[in-house]
Amino acid sequence: MAIRIIVLLGAPGSGKGTTAEKIRDRLGAVHLSTGDMLRAAVQAGTPTGREADACMKKGELVPDDVMVRLVEDRLDEGAAATLYLLDGFPRTTAQARLLETCLTARGGSIARVVFLDAPRDVLIDRLTGRRICRQCGMNFHVRNIPPRKEGVCDACGGELYQRPDDNRETIENRLDVYASQTSDLIDLYTKRGLLSRVDSAQGADALAEEVASIVQPE
Ligand code: AMP
Repeated sequence: MAIRIIVLLGAPGSGKGTTAEKIRDRLGAVHLSTGDMLRAAVQAGTPTGREADACMKKGELVPDDVMVRLVEDRLDEGAAATLYLLDGFPRTTAQARLLETCLTARGGSIARVVFLDAPRDVLIDRLTGRRICRQCGMNFHVRNIPPRKEGVCDACGGELYQRPDDNRETIENRLDVYASQTSDLIDLYTKRGLLSRVDSAQGADALAEEVASIVQPE
């Protein structure tokens, strides 16, 4: 068995990370979030982190070569037969092409691309209200998924914080960047017969169930 990839495609705030966390265990998959990898690199002050920091603060994309190296290295660290839930990658047609080259070289393939579709006002509301646990990474929302105690994670008691790029101006820019640089991938993967669209404006549990049923139909 070779590497298999499920791509979760969608704008910032469409629920890629939350969905991946909800379904990875039952699929026996590894959740690979390029945003999380970059934030860890920034935190650790690595050369990749230093290169990515300014782009991330503005809501711009980190250069394709940096991203592909990051993902390739991570795929090579894992076992050959791993199933990956890719969250936030690819984000440009160049990244999609380079991912294909990388998978072909390793005998791997994309099993399915799930496009999480939601209107812009829903995305803005989710992102402006999003709060994340510093310790375990669990996502909350000030109104939709409020923690039992304000500012404290229900799961581990960690402190909740707001991502620096979850401010209104950067959110608008990230959504514009998605529309201009990432949304072309919907067409690309539709033409390859790999894309399934789901309505991501539904509740997080229902969304996760629908995605799970698509990627693991039995
Ligand atoms: P995310 O956590 O997926 O919202 O990503 C946060 C930020 O990381 C993005 O706004 C980009 O600056 C950067 N980033 C994450 N994934 C990629 C990617 N595949 N290509 C370029 N930049 C990325």
